[in-house]
Amino acid sequence: MTAWDVHRPPDPDLIADCVHCGFCLPTCPSYTVFEDEMDSPRGRIVLMRVGNEPGSRPSDELRVHMDRCLGCMACVTACPSGVKYDQLIERTRPQVERVAPRPLRQRLHRRLIFALFTHPGRLRALAPLLWVQQKLGVNDAIGRRLGRVPELQAMLRLAPPVTRRAAIQRLAEVTPAQGARRGRIALMQGCVQRVFFGDVNAATVRVLAAEGFEVHAPRSPRCCGSLQLHAGVEDEALELAKATIAAYEDFEHVAVNVAGCGSGMKDYAHLLADDPAWAQRATAFAAKVRDVTELLADLEPQAPRHPLPMTVAYHDACHLAHAQKVRVQPRALLNSIPGLELREPAEWEICCGSAGIYNLVEPGAAAELGERKAANLRATGAEAIAAGNPGCAIQIGSYLDIPVFHPMTLLDHSIRGTRP
Ligand code: SF4
Ligand code: SF4
Repeated sequence: MTAWDVHRPPDPDLIADCVHCGFCLPTCPSYTVFEDEMDSPRGRIVLMRVGNEPGSRPSDELRVHMDRCLGCMACVTACPSGVKYDQLIERTRPQVERVAPRPLRQRLHRRLIFALFTHPGRLRALAPLLWVQQKLGVNDAIGRRLGRVPELQAMLRLAPPVTRRAAIQRLAEVTPAQGARRGRIALMQGCVQRVFFGDVNAATVRVLAAEGFEVHAPRSPRCCGSLQLHAGVEDEALELAKATIAAYEDFEHVAVNVAGCGSGMKDYAHLLADDPAWAQRATAFAAKVRDVTELLADLEPQAPRHPLPMTVAYHDACHLAHAQKVRVQPRALLNSIPGLELREPAEWEICCGSAGIYNLVEPGAAAELGERKAANLRATGAEAIAAGNPGCAIQIGSYLDIPVFHPMTLLDHSIRGTRP
């Protein structure tokens, strides 16, 4: 008997790649906050190895240390030995869900998160209520009444500003290309993204169309499963990954404007590697997925850019910078906007604390990281922030009174000659 069960335990060969040098420790946000070796990449890899040893047993402590990992993959960027911590933690999280059961309250909390946030239809139904609450300014009062349910308090506090159109705003299923045609492309709409950041999706479609793409925005599936994948909710992640592949695989490229979704979708090949019916399709599909900035930076711009005189600090979303290694392309696109001055915050590599559902399930650590990120961004003196992930925009926005824009929103304004 070992702590891990036989279904995809963390790979001993990948574990053995870690030489315990500790180079990853300074960039690890959970180590920074908790200052415990077991909350570092090196410590967790030891726990993964121990879990593979005969006689080991799962424990609450094991679950707690794995839960404290933000999945930011800064350790993958920092590691000189090429340790694939991303693949290790991706296998470990579902193990934790199966072998180390959570207290009932935690289980209900997580169930509520996935039953709500990954269902655009349910979010749309909730949007008018949130809009009224925010208009009346009663969020804080309601939050105080929820004192005994801190889980709901955190959800309310982190709710993004909702527009009146959020409940009804929908993208056209097909948007024609403008100018010289470059081909057909699909845009993944996302779950939270399509409801609370519908304006970002609309801006992305306009930019892609202006750059010569016929843009298709399929309405289903409701979600790509990345939020579930990154939290170890394996069955649902697998089901949604297969539905996403089936819906999008006929397109030459699949554009994504949410860092977390892009990283999960590029990972489908690993997720479905053991499924003979899907492994090949998943590999072919993953090769088509591009962050929208990655896709556009590879092309000669065809839509003229108008000046957008403003100072902007670029925030590296971890799932873009570390998980997808996309750092140069969003900067190149923003630098292509005349008049826009780009600034770089200190500690770009350290997570803002958003990390999928992390700021909902680990609010204390997330708040510490959010304050730290906000201070670094504020210190740039920029008048706006650019970030390619809705979770980061919500997290940073809750600690900073500077507007946060998606790079596509800024590019869209530049192409249209308008101001954000
Ligand atoms: S994960 Fe990499 S950087 Fe971190 S201790 Fe292991 S070998 Fe060193
Ligand atoms: S993924 Fe992020 S939080 Fe987790 S061990 Fe690596 S650096 Fe630390």
